[in-house]
Amino acid sequence: MPGALNFAPSCWHAQTRTSYTPRLRYPIPMPSRHHTFLLLAALSATLTLSAADKYAVDWTRQEPEIFEHYASLIRMDTSSPPGNETKAAEYLKGVLEKEGIPAQVYELEPGRGNVVARLKGNGSKKPILLMGHLDVVGVQREKWTVDPFSAIRKDGFIWGRGSIDDKDKVTSALTVMLLLKRMNVPLDRDVIFLGEAGEEGDSRVGIGFMVDKHWPEIEAEYAITEGGTTGARDGKVRYVQIGTTEKVPRGVRLVAHGPSGHASRPRPDNPVLHLAMAVGAVASNQPPMHLNDTTRTYFERLATISTPEEADRYNHVTDPARSPAILAYLAEHEPIHSSMLRTSIAPTILKAGFRTNVVPSEAEATLDIRALPDEDMPKFYDYMKKLINDPQVEIVPNGRGGREPGKPSRFDTDLFHSFEAAQRTMFPGAITLPTMGVGATDNSQLRAKGVQAYGFGPIIDEKDAQGGGAHADDEHLRETSLYKEVEFLWRSVFPVVASK
Ligand SMILES: [Zn+2]
Repeated sequence: MPGALNFAPSCWHAQTRTSYTPRLRYPIPMPSRHHTFLLLAALSATLTLSAADKYAVDWTRQEPEIFEHYASLIRMDTSSPPGNETKAAEYLKGVLEKEGIPAQVYELEPGRGNVVARLKGNGSKKPILLMGHLDVVGVQREKWTVDPFSAIRKDGFIWGRGSIDDKDKVTSALTVMLLLKRMNVPLDRDVIFLGEAGEEGDSRVGIGFMVDKHWPEIEAEYAITEGGTTGARDGKVRYVQIGTTEKVPRGVRLVAHGPSGHASRPRPDNPVLHLAMAVGAVASNQPPMHLNDTTRTYFERLATISTPEEADRYNHVTDPARSPAILAYLAEHEPIHSSMLRTSIAPTILKAGFRTNVVPSEAEATLDIRALPDEDMPKFYDYMKKLINDPQVEIVPNGRGGREPGKPSRFDTDLFHSFEAAQRTMFPGAITLPTMGVGATDNSQLRAKGVQAYGFGPIIDEKDAQGGGAHADDEHLRETSLYKEVEFLWRSVFPVVASK
């Protein structure tokens, strides 16, 4: 039901046209204006086609090289902490410089390298930043069925820590740089490559450091990195998610206080009891639902490719009569969608007591709160306080963990349209879904600086999605997905960087 969709960009466009039409002193008759428009459109289509033809890529021929860089990166153990990203940064610097693309490594702390390289354009447009993080989360080796740093090929997949998060993005960005350079594509804007450290838990040494201390090296109009999935069912791509905004991690501790004493004489002010009730109160009540432009569009578009039952839920989630039942269903069966609809609270750590027979004077719980980008946190803490309704329990915010909320990136930019065009070419019949990530990425710091920053990701088929995903044991990616991911980035970036 595309007619049901309400795309804000086309509304703005329509308003702009209405406002300037009356200012024409010699109005051009409609037919010839229209005719000129068609001629120009045809001409530009021809030019675009010829540029695309001139710089057509034989993807099968690229595969061995893509695999080589991807596997080399996975084989470098950059588990964070400690990270040791510099070895990966130096590897990439070597690859880029061998092609004549100057690159530089920046470290805030020894071993925690970020690598930056730049292809110069003619400066008529502002730069674009292609980014991927070099570090990975750690592994519990005994839980893996393969060596997590082997990049072994098995059953059509490539296995290893970082295979989905995030060495596929690093490889995609690297390949786009190499292809643009080798084909000598004339560029309207600089194309900047950034492999960053510390994304997994310490972005202070990575994107935080680059934004604070080396902003001129990476300043851009657009950025692309992780933050979306390309979803397939039975081998056919259904949607391409493009991350336009994301939730903001906000840790909170609940601390219950009370008198310590002998456990043989229990009292009603036992802090363990008060903490347990407080955790129950905040975690069993779902915070109120709130949609933004991204999530509203996401559910509207998703409904167009869903089963009738799914579509019915997505289309009626805000219907007051249906909402409670739909939200309960999503909480149980589609936890990502449930989280996209609200600021979420998950208790993760409980700490209380040290001996069976001692009532402690303090008990503490850690809550992982993922806030909507426009959440008013003081108000949200008030909401929690009302739910807890207990003077013995204190709410202690832990801060933002370095992620600053920025404005969501727009759907009406050249780059977003280019994502949609790449999707139509590569995956006809699918849709492009602007998406709000429920996790956090380094795009957050870039959006806070006003960059239109987008997330994308590899094809994950529903039947492959059981285990082995990002951060999971046995992380693995279908080999064909890797090549399609690189191609998608190329097709998205090329039209917004190549001179016409
Ligand atoms: Zn990641």
